[in-house]
Amino acid sequence: MRTVIIATNNAHKVAEIETALDFEGWQFMTLREAGLVSDPAEDAETFEGNARIKAKAARAVAQAAGIECAVLADDSGLEVDVLGGAPGVYSSRYAGVDGDDAANNAKLLQELATVPSEQRTARFVCTLVYLDEQGEETLARGTIEGRIGYEEVGDGGFGYDPLFIPDCFGGTCTLAEVSQDKKNSVSHRGNALRSLKEQLQSGL
Ligand code: IMP
Repeated sequence: MRTVIIATNNAHKVAEIETALDFEGWQFMTLREAGLVSDPAEDAETFEGNARIKAKAARAVAQAAGIECAVLADDSGLEVDVLGGAPGVYSSRYAGVDGDDAANNAKLLQELATVPSEQRTARFVCTLVYLDEQGEETLARGTIEGRIGYEEVGDGGFGYDPLFIPDCFGGTCTLAEVSQDKKNSVSHRGNALRSLKEQLQSGL
């Protein structure tokens, strides 16, 4: 049995990770489930850097508690081309308050108010850092390409989903209008998890 501590307390991410990495004999725990607290400053300039900070911090607290485990951390966000890749690593606090999706979406619409459709291209990016029991790193990245709409549409998903119109569905809907399963099948996090699974599988 291998225990993997996921460096998040976001139940939604945990469920997606458990479903994607369905290896025999693997069990996943959140930090909270493992009785651990880890909340490092995510002050790197890249998603990869922030994911690594979270993974290493989680590994350190697990080791200090004497828990033998692997760890998995992710970092994700939105890159809008005409904004030079912003909000990027600041996605969750774009409007100032961490996790205020409504304010972040309002700010993004404001920034793009005069930007025409063909220049509203964007992508979600997800980077995963997996550290095995020896601290050996496996890195995986996933993206989804699309464009930013003119108003929020749909009430599924979270974050910028109601503004993000993925190319893969022909530009007909936002990510907040599709089911969770459909989103996972094309999303940045889904793609990163599929890449990680492939890499880990080849080492099993
Ligand atoms: P984190 O990786 O949980 O820190 O996510 C950073 C931020 O990126 C979130 O707060 C959202 O604003 C945005 N984000 C990441 N993934 C998604 C997604 O799948 N849909 C919408 N917004 C996302």
